[in-house]
Amino acid sequence: MLVEIPVAVFDNPVLNSIVLLLGEIALILLILWVIFIIVTGILILLSIRRKKMYFPRILRPVLSIMQGAVRVICSILGIDAVELMTFMITIDNQMNLHSFEKTPVTNRAVFFPQCLRSAECPAHLTTEGIICRNCGRCRLGEVIPVLEDAGYKVFICPGSTLIKRMVKKYPPKAMIGVGGLTDLKDVLELGRRISMTTIGVVTLKDGCVETDLDYDKLLETASLGLSGHLSLKK
Ligand code: SF4
Repeated sequence: MLVEIPVAVFDNPVLNSIVLLLGEIALILLILWVIFIIVTGILILLSIRRKKMYFPRILRPVLSIMQGAVRVICSILGIDAVELMTFMITIDNQMNLHSFEKTPVTNRAVFFPQCLRSAECPAHLTTEGIICRNCGRCRLGEVIPVLEDAGYKVFICPGSTLIKRMVKKYPPKAMIGVGGLTDLKDVLELGRRISMTTIGVVTLKDGCVETDLDYDKLLETASLGLSGHLSLKK
């Protein structure tokens, strides 16, 4: 059965104007949104290629809220997923830098992933992560004492659940998360969720065992805001 629409609906000039106006507003908003996403993509491209951050305070929330659309425009502009993820970590690090520097070292924690260990690591898993026995099979045994002597709380984590538990148990005010790009993105997101200053340091290679890290870069990051530069003991 056909439904009869009263002709008066189409003949009502006020209603027609309102519908037309709403349509125009929606179209303008859509065009502005597309332009905004394109500009965001271009700013990300310039930031990556010129190694200089443009408008990080605007880009960071846009990246969080409109991640899907930004990802599409970035891929059209030739930015691959790894570059984009690295950029997101860099932007977070840059925005958290000042607050990290101001945090006393005794209120900071470092979370290492267990994949940095040797495949023959003799350390056991405890409720506070893997406790290094400094066996000399990997460099965690060298770097952890340096960090702990400086005042850091250090954990070797088998997964992100431990990070959440330790952050609750010893609420540090700032943390350094070490890991592959995807894991690090999650750690930074956790930091944002719980309003904790978080700095990410990316491992040199991904994997489940015997991955690698630029330990000098890590110590350089850990030294931020300290009076001296932390370094491995000779
Ligand atoms: S140095 Fe520590 S973490 Fe590395 S393999 Fe030995 S016990 Fe495991």
